[in-house]
Amino acid sequence: MKIRGSLLTGLPRELLKLGGKGLSAKAAVTERGAVLLGDSVACDAFDETRPLRVVTHAHADHLVGLRRSLRSCEKVLMTAATRDLVEVMNGSLALNDGSVEVLDYGETIEYGDERVTLVKADHILGAAQVLVEDAGGNRVAYTGDFRVDGTEPLLDCDVLVVEATYGSPLCRRSFELDVRELLVSMVEKRLREGSVYVFGYHGKLQEIMQILHGADVSVPFVMPEKVFRVSKVCEQHGMRLGSLTLATDKEGRELLDGNLPCVAFYHMNARNSVGLKGSRVCVSGWEFHSPCRQIGEREHLVALSDHSDFSGLLEYVRRSKPKRVVTDNYRMSHGVTLAREISRRLGIPAVAMPRKHGA
Ligand SMILES: [Zn+2]
Repeated sequence: MKIRGSLLTGLPRELLKLGGKGLSAKAAVTERGAVLLGDSVACDAFDETRPLRVVTHAHADHLVGLRRSLRSCEKVLMTAATRDLVEVMNGSLALNDGSVEVLDYGETIEYGDERVTLVKADHILGAAQVLVEDAGGNRVAYTGDFRVDGTEPLLDCDVLVVEATYGSPLCRRSFELDVRELLVSMVEKRLREGSVYVFGYHGKLQEIMQILHGADVSVPFVMPEKVFRVSKVCEQHGMRLGSLTLATDKEGRELLDGNLPCVAFYHMNARNSVGLKGSRVCVSGWEFHSPCRQIGEREHLVALSDHSDFSGLLEYVRRSKPKRVVTDNYRMSHGVTLAREISRRLGIPAVAMPRKHGA
């Protein structure tokens, strides 16, 4: 099979190390962060050799070079929810262009002798894993970002590319307490004193709204325009988030200025400029020792993640039973460690790509 363009930069030597079926089943991560699957597909970054671009989900580190992909690729594939989220998170990107093709989970498109299928991943709304199969029966796949508990592993792949955000054995959440229940009880308690500010990333903020709404926390949820627009997309795609109010509307201003009971949702970037005197909850995955700890006079850090921890990554690979693994060493620096641990603990050949962490 012909080897094209950027594949020549790193793939053959890495695959030789892996042995097995050699170049008949191909997957790699380029130095620009593109996850290459088979002959046609580049996921989550632009690659000039690939006619198909897949966007696994709407987080910024998975939208690398999307403008170029929209100009150059024959098709740009994503779920409808991801399309809508990308549009509101990146106001200047118009995705109603002819190259964008929306796929449901489980739906397959054919390109040449390859078949591309998006499979649900539990991460943010719309997130997908990607499976590419060719006429020879080769299966290569990419997990995208995921939480293992709600994600059905792609089985028996020749090569599986796996995310490595928490790919170090140090990144294990050993606490057993239900973090969601703890978050609800903390917010309920703080609401007795007035407004509660929650800081997190897009996607996770809406998950928290859903958790609080599902637990009958019925105060207004107040938020700036961008968070509001992302939340509206989540509602359009079936999430139930509660009573949403713009922070700039009269009602929103009165609630926050008067420190009245409401939950205010802000992006993590606003943490140093908003709600400095209120009760504050920061939600982060980068916390491994305790489900909740105090980090300021009226501020707590809650360990709610939309990624698998180290044990979850290993669990996925163990259940998925791939012949070989490539870890994504572009987006996080733990790719090398995760590849080594997969080889050592599971006996499955694994390499990190690109070899030098490049995000
Ligand atoms: Zn993500």
